[in-house]
Amino acid sequence: SFSAEVVPQAPEDALFGLMRAYRADQDPNKVDLGIGAYRDDNAKPWVLPVVKKADEILRNDPELNHEYAPIAGIVSFTSKAAELILGGADSPAIKEKRVTSVQTISGTGAVHLGALFLAKFYPGTKKVYLSNPTWANHNQIFSNVGLPIATYPYFSKETKGLDFEGMKSAIYGAPDRSIILLHACAHNPTGVDPTLDQWKEIAEVIRAKNHFPFFDTAYQGFASGDLMKDNAAVRYFVEQGFELVIAQSFAKNFGLYGERAGCFHVVTGPSPDAEKTITRIASQLAILQRSEISNPPLYGARIASTVLNDPKLYAEWEDNLRTMSGRIITMREKLRAKLEELKTPGKWNHITDQIGMFSFTGLTEAQVLKIREEAHVYMTKNGRISMAGLNTRNVEYVAKAIDKVVR
Ligand code: PMP
Repeated sequence: SFSAEVVPQAPEDALFGLMRAYRADQDPNKVDLGIGAYRDDNAKPWVLPVVKKADEILRNDPELNHEYAPIAGIVSFTSKAAELILGGADSPAIKEKRVTSVQTISGTGAVHLGALFLAKFYPGTKKVYLSNPTWANHNQIFSNVGLPIATYPYFSKETKGLDFEGMKSAIYGAPDRSIILLHACAHNPTGVDPTLDQWKEIAEVIRAKNHFPFFDTAYQGFASGDLMKDNAAVRYFVEQGFELVIAQSFAKNFGLYGERAGCFHVVTGPSPDAEKTITRIASQLAILQRSEISNPPLYGARIASTVLNDPKLYAEWEDNLRTMSGRIITMREKLRAKLEELKTPGKWNHITDQIGMFSFTGLTEAQVLKIREEAHVYMTKNGRISMAGLNTRNVEYVAKAIDKVVR
């Protein structure tokens, strides 16, 4: 029977543990820099105005019902999702019908479906290389489907930027035809992205070793505020004719966290057989999806689809994205300026060099615990802060608290 030996106590998810500790803290000055969700300048969740409009449209649609979605999801959503990440209907992969898309339980479900598909069908080396560090959940998602994982260097502690040489040589050293997981933009947790020229070199190494790129995109439009800039790496790989997969989340860029809107895409390489291959892949994905969730959830996909299919709403969404990314960029500038003003020991250019929701501050675990204890500022043990947790009222307080623990 079940016993403590058979089922040992699992550790609490670190991030959710942090959230619990924050909620229990009674200090009026407490600051939550752990949260991976956007907050407005009043530290409140922000429902995108364009999402409110789409919701209104849906609620007034007398034709709408609660029937099951198709197994692969709502096509008006998945087709636009593919265009979004591939850079439009002109993408060679879309024009040549080399893409198949399945609606998933947000980005997590997309990574999982991709992992499951590769575990079952990938003909190369079934080993997944993750950046060190990476989004913690990658480790368990791939392990849970029996794919062994390894890492490639990514973050340089010295420069607090990309360890480009380390990354390239580890990818080069991986067994031929390995699976290489890449964050399309706004790397979580470091906020450090390769430049486009660096992406080109990474692509060359991946090509030389016949590796298989697995893109995870959870922050398109949220990083730079420009949807086409944030998908540049994926577009480049597709233009180069790579066969690849993409796990796509709409949690951050639509603020639809709890609605679980996401997509998994497979792009095959250009070949006379491509269309036939993609049809077969689609048929297998449908079987996997059926056994996992049967049918994906409707609401978030309907919201996103409404916006993605209406040019006016789309433009408004782009504007909402600029509001979010713009506020985050401003907070980066303010935090850096305050730290430099305080002459906090060390260099702080990485705060503004890094991009997206997160920043790797370089604070040690001891400093992270101290700042929590003394200033009630909450961040993950690796020194990652969510820029969205900063606002005009707390940024100076946070800078002073960082200054104090660094000295
Ligand atoms: N990948 C990365 C890198 C992420 O940061 C996230 C969100 N934390 C996800 C995937 C998926 O999140 P969700 O399942 O909420 O879409």
